[in-house]
Amino acid sequence: MTRLVMKFGGTSMADLERIRRAARLVAAEADAGHKVAVVVSAMSGKTNELVAWTDGAGKASGKAIEGDDEYDVVVASGEQVTAGLLSMTLRNMGYDAVTMLGWQVPIITSDVHGKARILDIPPAKLETALDAGQIVVVPGFQGVTESGRITTLGRGGSDTSAVAVAAAVKAIRCDIYTDVDGVYTTDPRVESKARRLKKISFEEMLEMASLGAKVLQTRSVELAMGQRVPVRVLSSFVEPGENVDQGTIVCDEDEIVEKHIVSGVAFSRDEAKITLLGLPNKIGVSAAVFAKLAEANINVDMIVQSEKRSGDYANQLFTVGRRDAKAAADLMLSVKEEIGFDDIKVDENVAKVSIVGVGMRSHTGVAQTMFQALSEKGINIQVISTSEIKISVLIDEAYTELAVRALHAAYGLDKIGA
Ligand code: ADP
Ligand code: ASP
Ligand code: MG
Repeated sequence: MTRLVMKFGGTSMADLERIRRAARLVAAEADAGHKVAVVVSAMSGKTNELVAWTDGAGKASGKAIEGDDEYDVVVASGEQVTAGLLSMTLRNMGYDAVTMLGWQVPIITSDVHGKARILDIPPAKLETALDAGQIVVVPGFQGVTESGRITTLGRGGSDTSAVAVAAAVKAIRCDIYTDVDGVYTTDPRVESKARRLKKISFEEMLEMASLGAKVLQTRSVELAMGQRVPVRVLSSFVEPGENVDQGTIVCDEDEIVEKHIVSGVAFSRDEAKITLLGLPNKIGVSAAVFAKLAEANINVDMIVQSEKRSGDYANQLFTVGRRDAKAAADLMLSVKEEIGFDDIKVDENVAKVSIVGVGMRSHTGVAQTMFQALSEKGINIQVISTSEIKISVLIDEAYTELAVRALHAAYGLDKIGA
């Protein structure tokens, strides 16, 4: 009998009715002969509510709220509730189900509270229960440090819990049940013409996730790619049997026959642009700026430096997550004299829009199509960054949806699979 991991997200666990539907899908896989481990999210909205409570309770000794170990004690609780409710529902249906919390499995993580990384999942307890015919329900998002403190994996982290459990028990697949029936060419909430991709490569999914497509947490894709766990994304809003040939398989590139130059458009509003004006144009200045940001654990994404006409001064522009904008600006102001720039500007009304596709490696003109499509809509590009399989632009946030739709049409994504 093969092992299977099924993961249900927040909207799939939103109330008892949805939990019963998830239970029917789990039961069907158990009836089909799989040994099933289920990973669940908290009810949708629950984690936001818990996070807001920790904000209200206040910071511990000057740390960021997320860096506080008590933050994890609070926000990990949402998943415990849904895990227990799903197990109870399965028991009421006559199945032998048991909940194993993060510390009971154990899902051992680093001690970076609020965004811990999974270090190890000793499989013995899970395997014993699965082999004894039990359906094991594991709350996603939560783990435990070596020293026994509760941790959480960062927002959207239940996807990562699921893939990690699948790798630990050597499951044949990790099925991610969510509120859309697969990975689309772009967020179907923004572009109704978005098309479901039957398959997407790990590399493309990794880019899509890290560039803002929240259907899978970035870390879960990294893990699936590294551990070679086949992942399938599919809808939980169906009854057993209705899912046949549905969903999206995330797999190796060479398993995909129908290749696209561009597979998807992703966007992120979690961006802020910081510009340092009149920096001395001399060796070591960038190193000094970015050393300060790194010391403060602030992630920098796009960077552009432009020389002023005189050549003695330069302007430097970089982007950070919107939550880090104030901290980054305060930090830069505190070293204004030391680094020697004239002024600083912060713009939080920006968004990053990206196109992703492995076909970019071998095709020319992909960037030109992007820039042309944006210019036709009168959208100004503030910053450009590229990698082998993606091109990102920073634009005025007000044009995000317009840009996503324009790019979706420019690459013919509305016709994929048609
Ligand atoms: P869950 O609660 O199941 O983890 P999420 O809300 O985290 O679900 O992720 C699913 C959502 O991701 C969808 O409702 C959709 O709006 C969004 N999304 C963004 N980009 C995409 C995409 N390319 N394909 C599918 N869904 C996407
Ligand atoms: N409940 C957590 C969140 O909302 C984890 C998850 O659902 O993946 O971020
Ligand atoms: Mg999610």
